[in-house]
Amino acid sequence: MFKKRENVHEIEEGDLLSPKFDNDGLIPVITMCDKTKDILMHSYMNVEALKKTIETKEAHYFSRSRKSIWHKGKTSGFVQKVKEIRIDDDQDSIWLTVDIGEGASCHVGYRSCFYRSIPLGVIHNGREVKMKFLEKEKKFDPEEVYKDQPNPTKI
Ligand SMILES: [Zn+2]
Repeated sequence: MFKKRENVHEIEEGDLLSPKFDNDGLIPVITMCDKTKDILMHSYMNVEALKKTIETKEAHYFSRSRKSIWHKGKTSGFVQKVKEIRIDDDQDSIWLTVDIGEGASCHVGYRSCFYRSIPLGVIHNGREVKMKFLEKEKKFDPEEVYKDQPNPTKI
């Protein structure tokens, strides 16, 4: 369905989509909010997820914990409407711009998965790095929304 990767010139300078999927069949994706320009999440797509995203104009990812295609927002209702899909020079990473309205992207309940900031400066031996929360409150209650699903975060 996508052009075979044959030479660097075509991949970098050509106009045909020929994404590079890694050994697990995945390509990394960064998703940005069209309105705020915040990075909402980082995830992966396989061939099918990319195809579905292009065709349905709604973000589909591949869940590595569930090992399956994942129509983002199917459970929470926070579907991501795709505004633009870009791919980088060597076509091995994707930049998705989406509209989530007043919704959220993170299963923890925040708008962005990147809801904490790591302070800059010297890290003292034996001291833990204390992060700062950037979002005042959660957009939804994950305990309620995902009560029938296991938490995907692995320790
Ligand atoms: Zn998240």
